[in-house]
Amino acid sequence: MSKIKKLLVANRGEISLRIMRTAKEMGISTVAVYSEADRNSPHVHFADEAICLGPAPSSESYLLGEKIISLSKELNVDAIHPGYGFLSENADFARKVKDAGIIFVGPSPESIEVMGSKLAAKQAVSHYDIPLVPGTEEAISDISVAKRRAAEIGYPILIKASAGGGGKGMRIVENEEEFESQMQRAVSEAKSAFGDGAVFIEKFITSPRHIEIQILGDQKGNVVYLFERECSIQRRHQKVIEEAPSAVVTPEMRKAMGDAAVGVAKACDYYGAGTVEFIVDDQLNFYFLEMNTRLQVEHPVTEMITGKDLVREQIYIAEGRQLSFSQEDLKIHGHSIEVRVYAEDPRNNFLPDIGTLHTYQRPEGPGIRVDDGFEQGMAIPIYYDPMIAKLITHAEDRTSAIDRMIRAIDEYKISGIQTTLGFCRFALSHEAFISGNFDTKFVEHYFTPEVLDSDLTLEESELLAALAVEFLQKETNISIPNSSQGGTNESAWRKRLN
Ligand code: ADP
Ligand code: ADP
Ligand code: MG
Repeated sequence: MSKIKKLLVANRGEISLRIMRTAKEMGISTVAVYSEADRNSPHVHFADEAICLGPAPSSESYLLGEKIISLSKELNVDAIHPGYGFLSENADFARKVKDAGIIFVGPSPESIEVMGSKLAAKQAVSHYDIPLVPGTEEAISDISVAKRRAAEIGYPILIKASAGGGGKGMRIVENEEEFESQMQRAVSEAKSAFGDGAVFIEKFITSPRHIEIQILGDQKGNVVYLFERECSIQRRHQKVIEEAPSAVVTPEMRKAMGDAAVGVAKACDYYGAGTVEFIVDDQLNFYFLEMNTRLQVEHPVTEMITGKDLVREQIYIAEGRQLSFSQEDLKIHGHSIEVRVYAEDPRNNFLPDIGTLHTYQRPEGPGIRVDDGFEQGMAIPIYYDPMIAKLITHAEDRTSAIDRMIRAIDEYKISGIQTTLGFCRFALSHEAFISGNFDTKFVEHYFTPEVLDSDLTLEESELLAALAVEFLQKETNISIPNSSQGGTNESAWRKRLN
């Protein structure tokens, strides 16, 4: 066991601040890094020491692994926390940190390597009893073989980049005719975005929900799961609203998913905090998607319902301590929801909307947590992910957590840029969300920019939402082929919940 005394956070914004807050509580001194664009950021002011890495572009600052390591050595830093994004899933960086005699607050480089490739991950878990989405187990090298497999699986299918991430590198193929052209596009996109052209195919689950399991493992082989997070409200395959627990997961399903997630972790000798992502179909079958070998953006909802500080646990694990609790000690307390506040314009296809935060006032009061990295008057730089804050509520039950979130959104005052707050308010007031009857197609099914312009009361918008659901049900009954239930995506979930 080696006690960490000085921690460098190789990240920026809200996650850098969030990690340093826990470090301070633990008596660990903190080092922030920043780019020229972030010179005045709260994470820089909060740290005990701060170092400028270079100009704004990530490739000249936050991605300079070697520079971060050599600065760490100069400053006698004994551990580096990578946060999420940037270098967090870079096995080579984790290895160099270790070789420099510095603790990497995360899993081993080997675990990162295996799970960083969706194909290697599937191979690693194949010896365990973990359900996988039907598809190819290896990278596609022969188009005609892949086509035959696709015909067996049945269209639509998804072509995925093995090295993909952040919702990028996926292509839906509706029928055999477009297979080759989509395949060519997928390979060239994968090469240019991830430097690796390996792609594979997966059955495209219609009406899917994204439900993931948080795990924690120590370096002695103990692994526990901290229940699920439902992340089905997405745009561009990227999450915007997350909650724990899920509205549809039963205790039996929770245990089955938890056990599967622990199996995935064991398959790669995992230690640290990690997330095992599953896709769930409308019959509540779940399939392993991928493992994220880092702290997740939406980790706060798990902290709220379990009472555990995941960053503190990460640090303990990195120090070599044994987990201080077992699976039986973990319980779900109440319900928590997170909405991601992105500097994006929902009226314009959720495209980034960069500018200055002329007004920026956070909501307050019982059960509210805001993880952010900006202050009023600051400009949102164009160089990075446009997420400016995460708004989290915690309450006794799901309904109260939703009501609390709507209250908090109404209190949140942001001007100068467009954000996803209005969209999130719409989603949370929507009948489909309230009933738990939704999937990853929520935006496509229900959202049009017009809904943001009306200043309806909650009751009025709920009524409209119910009418919209009825209308859509009639419409989609005719227009959605391939639905084995003969109904709509929407109604499959409804049947289950009623
Ligand atoms: P999470 O997976 O934690 O729920 P996101 O999917 O939004 O959240 O990813 C977290 C961050 O990591 C985002 O900034 C995203 O852009 C970035 N990211 C994830 N995977 C990759 C990747 N393979 N390459 C580059 N950036 C990535
Ligand atoms: P990433 O590394 O980009 O996060 P994932 O494999 O986790 O990639 O998938 C991201 C999202 O894409 C999922 O949350 C889900 O919405 C959608 N998705 C992924 N695989 C499938 C599938 N087989 N069928 C339907 N949707 C899928
Ligand atoms: Mg994912």
